[in-house]
Amino acid sequence: MLSKRHTDIFTGCAKNVNEPLPFSFAKRSCGGAFNPPVCLADNRGEITLKDPLTCTITDVIPRTPTITSFRMTPDRPFDFLPGQFMKVHIAEGLWRYLSISSSPAKPYLEVTKRITGSDFSAALKRIKAGDRITVEGPLGKFVYKEEYQKIGFLIGGIGITPVMSILGYLADKGLAADCVLLYSNRTVEEVAFAAELESLSKQNPRIKIVNTITGEMPQGGGQLCGVIDREMVSQVLPDHHERIFFLCGPPKMVECTQALLLGLGQETEKIKTENFVGY
Ligand SMILES: Cc1cc2nc3c(=O)[nH]c(=O)nc-3n(C[C@H](O)[C@H](O)[C@H](O)COP(=O)(O)OP(=O)(O)OC[C@H]3O[C@@H](n4cnc5c(N)ncnc54)[C@H](O)[C@@H]3O)c2cc1C
Repeated sequence: MLSKRHTDIFTGCAKNVNEPLPFSFAKRSCGGAFNPPVCLADNRGEITLKDPLTCTITDVIPRTPTITSFRMTPDRPFDFLPGQFMKVHIAEGLWRYLSISSSPAKPYLEVTKRITGSDFSAALKRIKAGDRITVEGPLGKFVYKEEYQKIGFLIGGIGITPVMSILGYLADKGLAADCVLLYSNRTVEEVAFAAELESLSKQNPRIKIVNTITGEMPQGGGQLCGVIDREMVSQVLPDHHERIFFLCGPPKMVECTQALLLGLGQETEKIKTENFVGY
């Protein structure tokens, strides 16, 4: 059994590495539904997948003052499920796990990174169209496989990336799932994909987007204010018990939103989480 073997390997991994294996990752199996790659973890916990894929960067798209998307064309067909992530290498020893922010139905592959002061971010800032990078994957189980009719997304900051892939896929395929996205950011300027999200909800009235701003709110913002809490979830998603929840963002935010959903009586099996370890 492929997935059992992977679980055993990952559980034995050391954590103190270049980019440590996120705890939740240890419980995951690897691979997409269509073409599962072979996954190995070395004694530092890094994941190596068979057949790394070279991609050519086609576009560099600023999303907010600190968030940038990188579109690329893979050298060969690359199958993945909406919501999955990849191990993205931009130079020898310089890699990060990044979620795919594009829909699998699009002819390109896109990742989106919050640019920080790290070496990886510095190298990303120098990337331009025509450059070549390597990806490994796809990875992860934070996926939508057309099985849910009612979805709630509780998302913090850069955690929006896998959601863009899922919502984009729903739009591309004309699927009619009822989705409510409650999206938390510190400032209005830091709301990533704001125009794309608005356009998705205009195209499809079954997609509802609600932003909440945790920092200072400009006058007349027309958005909610404050961190996602029990009252906000009950107000925005009164039918929460009918929904499957996807939670993604910094680990602390995911932990808090998961606890509040459980406090509202949500069943554990109806909550999917992705922790963006490193924020
Ligand atoms: C499944 C998954 C999907 C992700 N998808 C995205 C995405 O789509 N976009 C995005 O911007 N980021 C994503 N991340 C986070 C990303 O992998 C990096 O950790 C993050 O971008 C910070 O990297 P950095 O180079 O900017 O800063 P770094 O210098 O690497 O990190 C900043 C700080 O976090 C600490 N840190 C970094 N990584 C870890 C770690 N794994 N465990 C514990 N501490 C750590 C560092 O020590 C440092 O203090 C994802 C992470 C995971 C696990």
